[in-house]
Amino acid sequence: MKNIVSPTQIIYEDVCRANIDRMLQKARHSGAVLRPHFKTHQSVEVGRWFREAGIDRIAVSSVSMAQQFAADGWMDIMIAFPVNFFEMDAINQLASRLKLGLLAASTGVISLLKKQLKHPVDLYIKVDVGTHRTGFDPYDTTLLDQELEQIPNTSRLRLKGLVAHAGHTYQAASHEEIHSIYRGGVQILTNIRERYNDRFPELVISWGDTPSCSVVEDLSQVDELRPGNFVYYDLMQWQLNACRLSNIGMVVAAPLVALHPGRNEAVVYAGAVHLSKEQLITRQGEKWYGIMVLLDDSGRWRLPEQQVWVHRLSQEHGILKVPPALFSQLQIGQMTGIIPVHSCLAADLLPKRLIV
Ligand code: PLP
Repeated sequence: MKNIVSPTQIIYEDVCRANIDRMLQKARHSGAVLRPHFKTHQSVEVGRWFREAGIDRIAVSSVSMAQQFAADGWMDIMIAFPVNFFEMDAINQLASRLKLGLLAASTGVISLLKKQLKHPVDLYIKVDVGTHRTGFDPYDTTLLDQELEQIPNTSRLRLKGLVAHAGHTYQAASHEEIHSIYRGGVQILTNIRERYNDRFPELVISWGDTPSCSVVEDLSQVDELRPGNFVYYDLMQWQLNACRLSNIGMVVAAPLVALHPGRNEAVVYAGAVHLSKEQLITRQGEKWYGIMVLLDDSGRWRLPEQQVWVHRLSQEHGILKVPPALFSQLQIGQMTGIIPVHSCLAADLLPKRLIV
């Protein structure tokens, strides 16, 4: 902790390894393969904890992330983001040396890939199971037929599977709703797999979002799981009841820099450029950008007796509303911790890391 002087990720190795093991056990129990998404941590070192647990394939969300993890020896990488054709040279380079998975997330992609790919890749069709971000409309079978028609039988494009990310689980009001999104999405993918079974037998169903992978116990209807956030979890997952606070694998170290007794506010050095502006909205309509925790000398955290929320943010300032009884216990120069609302964004924003 002594070396921490500014906003920094504190990563708890024991908690993260336990999160990895739990998800891996669940995948194995369900007969599915875990392909964790590495965009959450983006760390070679954390990636190695997955490898040590027995993981041999990953998903990433950019070509540069694929290059970063390829350099650390990962040989089976899916770029789980629509193909960016401005990066075809790098994509071809990766495809020449490892098993690369690419997504066709809309019409037009397959025809361009046929022209520009120089080495074999695994192609996945991204299906929109209700999030309406990217992916083919599963009910527009004419368009799907036309697209899949373009995939030659022997080519650099091997159609490997169907991919879905049910991001709308993040808006679910209950576990039952998360279950229902999972059941509905899997049914959509199973129907598509059956429709093309003669031409493309054994298509893999690749499913992934942390809420459903955490909440649904039996995931045996899918072949592959791609959650990412679960390695750290965060307040969003806690609010969804997809994790406990004890499963939080990363907090943001935040120096306390100002105290305003008149209004019971404390200010920490952790603002929007460190935590992002992701927020939880309470039932009373309040916005929360993080919760404060107390850190000991080794970097371990605990909740104070009363909850302290980050209720306003500017670029570098996080403004905390502190209950009066707690206010007198806070000191300028103290290092506090903030559990972020969305750990993937906070981790991306904070290049400095301390592993505890
Ligand atoms: N797969 C895809 C295509 C994604 O876009 C994401 C996250 O956005 C994930 C998997 C991982 O999901 P989560 O962040 O819920 O763990």
